[in-house]
Amino acid sequence: MATGKINVSVENIFPLIKKFLYSDHEIFLRELISNATDATLKLKHLTDIGETDVKYGNPVIEVKVDKEGKKLHVIDQGVGMTKEEVEKYINEVAFSGAEEFLEKYKDSAKDSGIIGHFGLGFYSAFMVANKVEIITKSYKDEPAAHWVCEGTTEFTLGDSDKQERGTEIILHINEEDEEFLEENRIQELLVKYNKFMPIPIKFGTKEETLPLPEDAPEDAEAETKTVDNIINNPEPAWTKQPTDLEDKDYKSFYRELYPMQFEEPLFHIHLNVDYPFNLTGILYFPKMTQDMNIQKDKIQLYQNQVYVTDNVEGIVPEFLTMLRGVIDSPDIPLNVSRSYLQADGAVKKISSYITRKVADKLKSLFNNNREDFEQKWNDIKIVIEYGMLSEDKFYEKAQKFALYPTVENEYFTFEELQEKIKDNQTDKDGNLVVLYASNKDEQHSYIEAAKAKAYKVLLLDSPIISHLLQKMEGEKEKITFVRVDSDQVDNLIKKDEEKISKLSEEEKEKLKEDFEKVIPKEKYTVQLEAMDSDAAPLLITQPEFMRRMKEMQQTGGGGMFGMGNMPEMYNLVVNTNHPLISDILNTKTEKKQERLIKHSLDLARLSQNLLKGEELTNFVKRSFDMVK
Ligand code: ADP
Ligand code: MG
Repeated sequence: MATGKINVSVENIFPLIKKFLYSDHEIFLRELISNATDATLKLKHLTDIGETDVKYGNPVIEVKVDKEGKKLHVIDQGVGMTKEEVEKYINEVAFSGAEEFLEKYKDSAKDSGIIGHFGLGFYSAFMVANKVEIITKSYKDEPAAHWVCEGTTEFTLGDSDKQERGTEIILHINEEDEEFLEENRIQELLVKYNKFMPIPIKFGTKEETLPLPEDAPEDAEAETKTVDNIINNPEPAWTKQPTDLEDKDYKSFYRELYPMQFEEPLFHIHLNVDYPFNLTGILYFPKMTQDMNIQKDKIQLYQNQVYVTDNVEGIVPEFLTMLRGVIDSPDIPLNVSRSYLQADGAVKKISSYITRKVADKLKSLFNNNREDFEQKWNDIKIVIEYGMLSEDKFYEKAQKFALYPTVENEYFTFEELQEKIKDNQTDKDGNLVVLYASNKDEQHSYIEAAKAKAYKVLLLDSPIISHLLQKMEGEKEKITFVRVDSDQVDNLIKKDEEKISKLSEEEKEKLKEDFEKVIPKEKYTVQLEAMDSDAAPLLITQPEFMRRMKEMQQTGGGGMFGMGNMPEMYNLVVNTNHPLISDILNTKTEKKQERLIKHSLDLARLSQNLLKGEELTNFVKRSFDMVK
C-alpha cells in the first residue's frame, strides 16, 4: 500500500480564491478595513499591556479614491509589518496573523475585538484589482517595506521610504470594476459594512454648519466649516452595558440603524452573554402590521462590529425575524451553509437564548406596567402569537403574558378569562366554550346576540389565529373555541333555554320541505330553530371545524396538504318564531313563496358578506323594483 501527501499547487488554487472565495465582490473593502482595524487594535493592545512604548494616540483609518490614477487607498496607523512579517503573513496564503496574535496573547487579548480569522481576507483585493501594493512600516524600529503583486503568484518585496507607522494598501482597480472608483459607491459600502466598526474611518471631508452664537442677529448667516467625513460610530449602543444606557440612548440608536424609519420602537431587549457563547445585541419591537413577510429581514448580524448580513435565518427563531436591531457574535460559523447552521449546537443555544430573553422581557413588561402592555398588545400580538404557535418553550412562557382582548376592549390572560366564563359558558359535555369574533363589523349581529346572553366575546383577528386556537385546544383540557357566527354557538345557547316553537310538527316539516325545494342542497343545510321573534328570521352559520380548516389552509399550516379544496358549506338556520317565516309558510302560490325565500336568503347572505358580484347586482336591482 502506498501513502502520500496530496500536493496542492498554489498556482492552481490562487485564481480560484480570487474568483470564488467570496460571491460578492464588494466585500473586499470590508476585508481591507477589517485588517486595518485589526492592525490598530493590535497596537492598542500592545501599548495597553506595556509591550511597546510607542504612542497609541488617536488613530484613524483613511480611505481615498484616486479616480485619475484608478487607485483606491486604505491607510491605517496600526502595527504595520516588517519585511519578514510581510513574507510570513502576506505571502503565505491562508496563514492568519490575526489567529496567531490571539494565540500568542491568549488570555489578555480575548476581548480585544480582533476580527481576522482565516488568513484569506487580504486576497479578496484581487477580485477588483489587477495589481496590489502594500507599503508598510512596523511599530518596531525597522525600515518600511514595499510589496507589489500583479495577481499572480509572483511578487516583489523591496524597501520604502515611508516614515509614519502603519500600512497603506493600494489597489489598482480593474477596468470592469471601476464602480469602486466612484465616491458614492465607496461611501455606500462603508456605511453598509463599517458603520459601527471600532476605529474611526475617514472618507474625504464634508461641510458642517456651525451653530449660531446665542446673541447673533436674526439675519445672521450660519457659518460652515470643512471637517473630516467620519463614517462610523465606533461605540454603538450594543457594545455598552445596559446600566450605562437610558431609554433615549436606545431610541437614538434605533434611528441610527434605521434612518428612514420615523416610527419609534415600542421597546427593546438588550442581549448580553459571554458564556457558553459570546453574543451581544439589541432587539427592538417595532409596531407590527398583519403582513409578516414585509417586515422580515430587518435584523442585522455583525461579527466584532463588522456587518455581515441581514439574513438571520437559522440564528434567530423565525418568529423573531419580525423584530429589528442588531446581533453581534463572533461565535456564529458563517462560512457554512444555512441548513448546516441550523443543526449547529452553538447556534441552537443562541437561538433558544434569544427566545428566552424575549419571553422574559415581555413578562416583566406585563408585570411592571400592565396597562401599558395592554395598549401595546395589538402592535405586538402577531409576534407573540406566532411564537406561541411555533416554539413550545415560548408557548409555555407566554401563558403568563399573552392577552385575550374582548370586543369591548377588556384584556384577560387565559387564566383570568377562564375564571370569568366558567359559570356561564359551558356546553353539554362540560367544555368551556370560548367565543370569539374575527371582525367586529362583519360579525356584528352575532356579537350582539352573544352579548345579550352576557357571553364574553373575544376579538381575535390575527391571520394565524386559527392555527393557534387549534394548538390551544390540543394543549388545554376541556376548552373549545367557537366563533360567534359558527353553528356551535347553538350548543351553548340551547343549553340555557330551550325555546318553544310556535309551529306544529306538521307545519315544521312542510316549512323544511319548502325551503329545501328552493335552496341548493350542496351549499346549505336547513335547520329549524325556535328563537325570539325579534331575532333574525334567517341566519347563516358555518361549521366551526370546516371554517377553521379552510382558514388554516389559506394561511399555510403544516400537514394541511392533501385536503384539496374544501367546499363551502353553511347552515341556514330558520327561526320558526319569526313572523316572516310564518308568512312564507302560509304563502299559497309556489312562485311567490320561492321569491320570498330567495330574497330572504339573499338578505341573510348580505349580512354575512356572502353576497357578491352578479348576485349582488341582481339583488339590488330586484330590491329597487320592489320598492318602486
Ligand atoms: P486574517 O485577517 O484572517 O488574519 P488576511 O488575509 O485578511 O487574514 O490577512 C493576513 C495577515 O496579513 C493578517 O493576519 C495580518 O497579519 C497581515 N495584515 C493584513 N493587513 C494588514 C495591515 N493593514 N496592517 C498590518 N498587518 C496586516
Ligand atoms: Mg483579515
